[in-house]
Amino acid sequence: MMRVFNTLSRRKEEFRPLRGKAVGIYTCGPSVYQRPHIGNYRTYVFEDVFKRYLIWKGYHARHVMNLTDVENKAIAEARRQGKSLKELTSHYSRIFFSDIKKLDILPADFYPRASGTIPEIAGLVALLAKKGYAYEVGGDWYFDISKFRRYGMLSGLGHKIGKGRRISFDDYYKWQAGDFILWRRWREADGKAFWNTRLGKGRPGWSIECTAMGRKFLGDRFDVKMGGVDNIFCHHENEIAQGWGASGRIFAKYFIHVKHLLINGRKMSKSLGNAIYLDDLGRRGIEPGALRLFYLTAHYRRRISFTWEKAKKAQERFGECRKCVGKLKAAKESGEAGKEARAAVEKARRSFEKAMDDDFQTQKAHDTACALVKFANGRDGLRKSEAALVLSAMRDFDRVFGLGLF
Ligand SMILES: [Zn+2]
Repeated sequence: MMRVFNTLSRRKEEFRPLRGKAVGIYTCGPSVYQRPHIGNYRTYVFEDVFKRYLIWKGYHARHVMNLTDVENKAIAEARRQGKSLKELTSHYSRIFFSDIKKLDILPADFYPRASGTIPEIAGLVALLAKKGYAYEVGGDWYFDISKFRRYGMLSGLGHKIGKGRRISFDDYYKWQAGDFILWRRWREADGKAFWNTRLGKGRPGWSIECTAMGRKFLGDRFDVKMGGVDNIFCHHENEIAQGWGASGRIFAKYFIHVKHLLINGRKMSKSLGNAIYLDDLGRRGIEPGALRLFYLTAHYRRRISFTWEKAKKAQERFGECRKCVGKLKAAKESGEAGKEARAAVEKARRSFEKAMDDDFQTQKAHDTACALVKFANGRDGLRKSEAALVLSAMRDFDRVFGLGLF
């Protein structure tokens, strides 16, 4: 039985998709106005391992990952660089796709962009207005959280927001704390970043974009919503309100959130000047597979601290795994697999699945795989049949971890 921690219930739950073996997954993708760093990729790699494990267990994933290409920061950055929003976001989208290829992240089935979903977004805001959840002030449209009593069910913050919490007033309506923007009327600073819709000339707010894209590709109720912990409030909280307003129920069954990667005790971010990129690792001889290995040594619900020392260790372990695969492939001795080898492989397979079934304890699954590598490396004269057994288990583990050892 597979169990997963659901942020919504704050406990581990049995994983039971809504429609048998078909699993609908929406992962919040990057804001493509800057280059993602290895802190961002921690989330995307875990989401990839999550999906790979579902496939390994015989599920079929329908995976949507959006690219946020319309938002305040992107527009400000485009203006700063003297580029159009499209030029800027196309550039960073290309970098993102090149990075995830290097990281061997399985492609999503759909990569919708906010800019390509405008009619659906406008339609959704109109629907919310019709149902009494949205109102308009001078061309700006807001979600009225006083109409949604369950607001706060995900984060536990509820209607307390605005009382002492620092919030950006760019995206909130001042006199009714907590009401958030759905559609922003055009202002001069927006330049050419606007669309003419039934809501007027303007652009969507951030959270409505993901809700509209989710509904478009996965319907108004699907299985899994994922992202980093900083998405819990306010992004996913707002999404629950919007989804409920539109359909009268919660849009996802499981909400799964990945904790941050830290560096020197702080969250990695470009604005703090401590961001490290995939290329920086490459220059120091650390391969993408080793970075994945590093991520997996911590449970996704724990923060992980990045140090170059740890990255180097991960690279060494990665090298050992590769050497082990080479050695196993070269095994020539004939004869049937011995009892010891059969037992070691069976035990590794069992512990791997047990660890992954228990809310994706990748660090335990990783230890299991390492123990098997150690067993194989420590045995001279491993028979070909034994090597084949170990190899098949390692290939299976690698299908989930995606280290690219084969
Ligand atoms: Zn999102």
